[in-house]
Amino acid sequence: MNDLVNFLRARLDEDAAAIDGLMEKSLQDSMNRDKFLTHQTMVMLSGVDHLTVAVVNRQLRDVESKRRIMELHDGAHECSTYDHNGEVDNCVWVTDWNDCSTMRLLALPYADHPDYRGEWRT
Ligand SMILES: [Zn+2]
Repeated sequence: MNDLVNFLRARLDEDAAAIDGLMEKSLQDSMNRDKFLTHQTMVMLSGVDHLTVAVVNRQLRDVESKRRIMELHDGAHECSTYDHNGEVDNCVWVTDWNDCSTMRLLALPYADHPDYRGEWRT
């Protein structure tokens, strides 16, 4: 298994777990704080919780979207990639994930992670 793929899968798993944890904590905090909710508090919390749920769902879909993009770039494939001068070549046969610019770009948000490798920057 390629290091870039392992790195991405681990980060996406961490993201999904963190999102789940935030949602659980948010709901638990609301329940602990407001055991006897007034109608006004319930309306306010339902608005906040609705927004929280929307953001959490969007983040979970973002993780799923990235996982599906990874599937599309799995194995040997034809891909648009950046050359070393920043130009796009729209028809490159990629046999190694390390050469796929899409996979590298998926890893870029995690560039501050200690396992991120500088050579993955496109
Ligand atoms: Zn690709």
